[in-house]
Amino acid sequence: DAAVLWFRRDLRLGDHPALAAAAERSHRVVALFVLDEVLLRPAGAPRRGFLARCLRALDHDLGGRLLVVRGDPARVVPSVAARVGARSVHVSADTGPYGRERDAAVERALAEAGVEFDRTGSPYAVTPGRVVNAQGEPYQMFSAFYRAWLNRGWREPATSDPSEVDWFDPSEVDVERAAVAEPPADGLPAAGERAALRQWETFLDERIDHYDRDRDRPDLAGTSRLSAALHWGCVHPRTLLHDLAAHSGSGAAAFRAELAWREFFADVLWHRSEVARRNYDRRYDHYQHDTGEDADARFTAWASGRTGYPLIDAGMRQLLAEGWMHNRVRMVVASFLVKDLHLPWWRGARHFLRHLVDADLASNQMNWQWVAGSGTDAAPYFRVFNPTTQAERFDPNGDYVRRWVPELRAVPGKRAHTPWLLPAGPPTGYPPPIVDHAEERRVALGRFSALKAVA
Ligand code: FAD
Repeated sequence: DAAVLWFRRDLRLGDHPALAAAAERSHRVVALFVLDEVLLRPAGAPRRGFLARCLRALDHDLGGRLLVVRGDPARVVPSVAARVGARSVHVSADTGPYGRERDAAVERALAEAGVEFDRTGSPYAVTPGRVVNAQGEPYQMFSAFYRAWLNRGWREPATSDPSEVDWFDPSEVDVERAAVAEPPADGLPAAGERAALRQWETFLDERIDHYDRDRDRPDLAGTSRLSAALHWGCVHPRTLLHDLAAHSGSGAAAFRAELAWREFFADVLWHRSEVARRNYDRRYDHYQHDTGEDADARFTAWASGRTGYPLIDAGMRQLLAEGWMHNRVRMVVASFLVKDLHLPWWRGARHFLRHLVDADLASNQMNWQWVAGSGTDAAPYFRVFNPTTQAERFDPNGDYVRRWVPELRAVPGKRAHTPWLLPAGPPTGYPPPIVDHAEERRVALGRFSALKAVA
């Protein structure tokens, strides 16, 4: 019997339980990836480019044996299984809202042909839905989830050996193969399993011990930049957690907690898939947002990095150029959209999903909701990030903003954070602030108070 290993968010060969399951079932396996337009349509060029690189790396590691087909998985997967006479299709479980529906459709179509659909593992150390309290309910707050998650623990990395398998050559399978588009030359984080593992080793050698100190500084390279690799499963978090166990400092503890946030948000989305679109805290449905032409113009200024607030503009321009933004800057630009420009979080979240290489429905929507105040562990509503003091604190010399806002390159030190205070005003080509932060903060707090009165 043959088997199909359908890769999705698990683009690696090591620590791969579904690969091990396929190899146990059958010696002859097709390695399949399906380019699904439903998932790709909202993705901008950096995100598509990153995926293309991951697929090329996986194909290389498989000795050219990755079969890539374009189309609806509910049609493609059964058809590939039929062409090779497979009795089983193996996957890592997808716990997101679209993935679950898609997999249910594929499973039904396969069942009609008598083919088994086998889910082994998931993109998380602990599969979403498994961490529950004594009453069997999901956690609503990160700190309680974190404790339970640590107590529950996770398995050791799986042993999966691709050389045990006789992989089908794609030319042996009678289906139309898709070309994987040539990715853009640079600006993307390391893609593929080997590159991700190398990056992780360098991070462990050079930065983990200072991670808790440096992780908030966008001007330093203090974080792992593994988010896109984690999203696509070039490396599994279980592998990272295993390696972290050898490091005892506060840097390693802080990194473990960040991985736990990723698991927590996936768990929240698993229990309540509607929070991808709606407020987790439904009282926020009454919050008053701005609409109309003026609001649209403010959104455009934000999205294109022309608000006149250097830290905001640097972040938004980095997002467009690299498809990545530092976590601290993500928090500040998100707060600015919601609390200074009075626009709904989901408009910003949609823009992020289009441009981020690490775009991840659970992490993105729930972080946006956290900033907006409508999510889990809501930040107190009166906490409104001040874009200038945040900049002065976390980019103390202005290096980060000068890197991304060329109009400010000649402005020395931290004066780059307040170009409107320069004797001659902002440099040519750079806008004055589009809103007054102190004034908009008052407006936002007024609207939050109105919300409390309704609730
Ligand atoms: P590191 O600091 O090295 O952290 C290690 C890993 O932990 C990350 O790769 C990531 O997988 C996880 N992690 C870290 N912080 C968070 C967090 N706050 N929430 C969930 N997981 C976290 N992360 C995404 O992966 N995809 C998104 O679409 C996304 N959207 C975001 C939107 C907003 C408004 C905010 C405030 C944060 C968002 N994040 C998102 C979380 C975080 O900003 C990124 O994971 C992080 O900046 C990635 O850089 P890194 O890999 O160097 O992180």
